[in-house]
Amino acid sequence: MPKPVLFTVDDDPEVLRAVERDLRSRYADRYRVMRANSASAALSTLRELKARNNPVALLLADQRMPQMDGVGFLLQAMEIHPDAKRALLTAYADTTAAIDAINEARIHYYLMKPWDPPEEKLYPVIDDLLGDWTSTFRAPYEGIRVLGTRWSNRSYELRDFLARNQIPYQWIDIEIAQSDPEVRGLVSSLGPEAETLPLILFPDGTRLAEPPLPAVADKVGLRTHAQTNFYDLAIVGGGPAGLAAAVYGASEGLRTVMIEREAPGGQAGLSSRIENYLGFPSGLSGSDLARRAVAQARRFGVEILAPQRVVGIRVDGPYRFLKLADGAEISCNALLLAMGVQWRTLDVPGIDRLQGAGVYYGGGTSEAIACRGETVYIIGGANSAGQAAMHFSKYAEKVVMLVRGASLASTMSHYLIEQVEKTPNIEVWTKSSLSGVKGETRLTGIAVRCETDGTTKEFPASSLFIFIGAEPRTEWLGDLIERDNRGFILSGPDLLRDGKRPASWTLDRDPSLLETNVPGVFVVGDVRHGSVKRVASGVGEGAVVVQFMHQYLGKIQ
Ligand SMILES: Cc1cc2nc3c(=O)[nH]c(=O)nc-3n(C[C@H](O)[C@H](O)[C@H](O)COP(=O)(O)OP(=O)(O)OC[C@H]3O[C@@H](n4cnc5c(N)ncnc54)[C@H](O)[C@@H]3O)c2cc1C
Repeated sequence: MPKPVLFTVDDDPEVLRAVERDLRSRYADRYRVMRANSASAALSTLRELKARNNPVALLLADQRMPQMDGVGFLLQAMEIHPDAKRALLTAYADTTAAIDAINEARIHYYLMKPWDPPEEKLYPVIDDLLGDWTSTFRAPYEGIRVLGTRWSNRSYELRDFLARNQIPYQWIDIEIAQSDPEVRGLVSSLGPEAETLPLILFPDGTRLAEPPLPAVADKVGLRTHAQTNFYDLAIVGGGPAGLAAAVYGASEGLRTVMIEREAPGGQAGLSSRIENYLGFPSGLSGSDLARRAVAQARRFGVEILAPQRVVGIRVDGPYRFLKLADGAEISCNALLLAMGVQWRTLDVPGIDRLQGAGVYYGGGTSEAIACRGETVYIIGGANSAGQAAMHFSKYAEKVVMLVRGASLASTMSHYLIEQVEKTPNIEVWTKSSLSGVKGETRLTGIAVRCETDGTTKEFPASSLFIFIGAEPRTEWLGDLIERDNRGFILSGPDLLRDGKRPASWTLDRDPSLLETNVPGVFVVGDVRHGSVKRVASGVGEGAVVVQFMHQYLGKIQ
């Protein structure tokens, strides 16, 4: 933590130097002594200190200053640093005026000039004030702070991005926190800057308003640009399947790069509790799994580019090229497609407008705390919806699951159904579907259609989480990579038709298991046609595919 500040302001340079000298000689080991020669200069420095979260313990101002007197200054400074102790330096002639102003500016003490000897006339007073200040002082948060409003999609995106990339931050909802004098001080010290939200405040004093995610990524040290333009193995997608392949590939000596559009962890990173992954008897959260896997991959030297999106692919002889969203191109010998699947969106009028402002697809687990005491609606009846219901039930007053089918039995694992049934604040409304949403700038209500009798009822609602299945996004592969009619990538034996290899296939062997119709381009995980959509199967495929890559690489080198 930076040292708390003792701030003194006086227009008389000699007095200013003398106060500073005396304060330094006694307090410099524990406090930073700062000075200003006018009230306006002092206020601007105090604002900057506030924005940097640097605490101010004491404000010591001369009463007689041109433009703004000491009391006027302390009144304004108090708005910015409400907890700082306030003392006024007065000449004998100003004593009465100073005493009159004490109540108005809630000044803690006034000192008479001259204060010699300081051991008798200055330090006992300051010691007392600082003792008081220290007893109630709580050290400020030293990391990244994000200012925004709960009902803004941009704020939600930013918080989700930081959380999924495991970057700790403090969230300051300025609507709720206006009642907090500290936050009011922060907002007033930021002035017009606090009007463009979300705003990130970094500990070094840098501020980014409404920042694009790549700019945030750069600032927090995430790598988005490749170090070189050629790799043995390039992996598209950092879900469990891509991460497993990265760990196995790099640990076996392949120079490996993994490119991830959002945050490593993929869909699994959105899971509040994965209970069926081998070796974790009491389950583990998706973010925990992602954090461990990323650390493991980095330890083996995998280069992780995130957030960075792959937008194109081409082949030239033995080289496979990937085009990135920022226009860069990287090449490799072996390429792995591990892009998983993405949430399907719901087709209800007006719902797009409310995304991130009460309506969330998948995950949204970072919202759980904000839902304390509310009713949360969850759409979907599969495991992901069940996990989310269990997670939100710890915070929300009530969780309502809207399920199209007659029961959860055909869509959810047995262990999860049992947990849902045993949780008193979860209600499952079967044969129910969402037919409408209400709200202009944030969700305020939903309409639910009962499939049994065709009636529709409206309910007030502020949080709706949607888990209605997912689909592959593989359009960027163009005509190069063969897919089924739903966009899932074909591989190995699935490519053979009547025992014949695909027309584009150039080698005199069949495509190996997990190999696409382009030699040296492999596919694993949820995006693969016929895959089992599970963390363990993705991880298994990621581990196995490296073996086939070695066989391929052994022949081309
Ligand atoms: C909420 C939830 C809970 C779940 N719970 C469980 C569970 O308890 N047990 C279980 O076994 N399974 C569970 N699953 C399923 C499991 O998470 C998936 O099967 C698994 O994550 C699939 O891994 P993957 O690596 O194939 O794909 P994904 O996890 O989907 O990862 C693919 C990654 O590729 C990235 N990507 C996509 N396109 C591009 C591109 N063009 N450029 C760069 N990157 C790109 C995506 O951003 C994503 O991060 C759950 C899923 C969800 C959503």
